[in-house]
Amino acid sequence: MSDSTGSDLAEYLRLLDEVFDADYLALVESAEREGRFPRQLIEKLGTAGVFRSKWSSARHIDLPKLVALSERLGGLGSFSVSVGVTLHDSAIAVLRRFGESDYLREIADRAVEGTAIVCLGASEARGGSDLQNAESVAVPTATGYRLRGAKKFVSLSTVANFIILVVRVVSDPDADESGEVALFVVEADKVEIGEPYAKLGAAFLDTAPVEFDLEVPAEAMLARPGTGLAALSWALGSERLSVAAQVVGACDLALGVTVSQLMRRRQFGKTLFEHQALRLRFADLQARLDVLRYALRGLAASRTPLSIRTASGFKVTAVRFGEEVMSECLHVFGGAGYLSGVAPVERWWREMKLGRIGGGADEVLWELVAAGMRPDHVRHDRLVTV
Ligand SMILES: Cc1cc2nc3c(=O)[nH]c(=O)nc-3n(C[C@H](O)[C@H](O)[C@H](O)COP(=O)(O)OP(=O)(O)OC[C@H]3O[C@@H](n4cnc5c(N)ncnc54)[C@H](O)[C@@H]3O)c2cc1C
Repeated sequence: MSDSTGSDLAEYLRLLDEVFDADYLALVESAEREGRFPRQLIEKLGTAGVFRSKWSSARHIDLPKLVALSERLGGLGSFSVSVGVTLHDSAIAVLRRFGESDYLREIADRAVEGTAIVCLGASEARGGSDLQNAESVAVPTATGYRLRGAKKFVSLSTVANFIILVVRVVSDPDADESGEVALFVVEADKVEIGEPYAKLGAAFLDTAPVEFDLEVPAEAMLARPGTGLAALSWALGSERLSVAAQVVGACDLALGVTVSQLMRRRQFGKTLFEHQALRLRFADLQARLDVLRYALRGLAASRTPLSIRTASGFKVTAVRFGEEVMSECLHVFGGAGYLSGVAPVERWWREMKLGRIGGGADEVLWELVAAGMRPDHVRHDRLVTV
């Protein structure tokens, strides 16, 4: 088991305090204005050792550090940076766990140092949730594989050096052959990257369509046919737990700012916080946020291996709660909350919505939870008479 010990985690938290300083926040704010993802957001973390410390023990995800990093990222108040950084980190997770060739190990090492950015192209126009039915294919050649296809959403693709692609391996792309899912790593400058989409939130996550038709050497295969979905689940498990922890950080920020507003603004002769209806609503949100925070940290500390069911359940529960928090925060800012550029709550509300779609939409995650549920026939027989 490779999770960090208490003192190691305390040191990591200190490192995060140092890294996420005023300069880093200024970089995030300027990216928000420019609408483009600056590479320095990942490079700075790499140089400071944020990924190196997390990945010191090679192949396993260090859950306490994953939760700590994601909470801090969420607290920056920008889904673009928090999701962008954890997508890169989830790409490291799958590279470290499944990358066997020297070529892939070197890419993983560069990603850990922040000198190469890696992103993930799974979703297609016709298969977002249903990844098994990806239409992109890999056809074996004399020296490797020819990859052909298109991905509809690839975040960070405009700044990435490498893209992990989900494809089905077939011997003849025109034959009626389903093929098994595999993962390949390709160089980003060898594929065609479209214009980033204008979107509801996460303005500088740089999500763009990607088209490809290229030959790659066999050593670029990250997960062989038949293991692609399992490898992808590993990356998505990391990403989903990261998103849940980002929600904690984002809600901490939003509740803090909103409670300040409630304590300052007066209506009907007293502060909004003195109105019991509002105070208790926010106390309820605060209490549930604390439950989520300590559940996540407890899971991380418990050294329980991360399962698909747990990661999916945490993500779907967290983002639905996060959406409720942002909606309530926006609400108590009144009319000002609905205006652009007055308070960031309207942006946070729009951005939180992405959490319910990206990395697996609610229903898809509930299906994964349902698939992991077990009946208790023994107690049913003892307790139920129908
Ligand atoms: C800003 C942004 C960034 C993204 N970045 C990336 C990225 O970097 N890499 C990447 O690979 N993808 C990325 N995505 C894609 C994202 O992961 C998908 O959009 C998401 O998984 C949903 O797939 P879909 O859009 O095809 O929706 P669909 O699969 O068509 O789903 C539509 C709706 O139907 C529901 N649904 C689907 N199947 C079922 C079912 N069996 N039962 C009940 N309900 C169901 C879904 O929950 C959803 O609400 C990004 C998307 C966005 C918006």
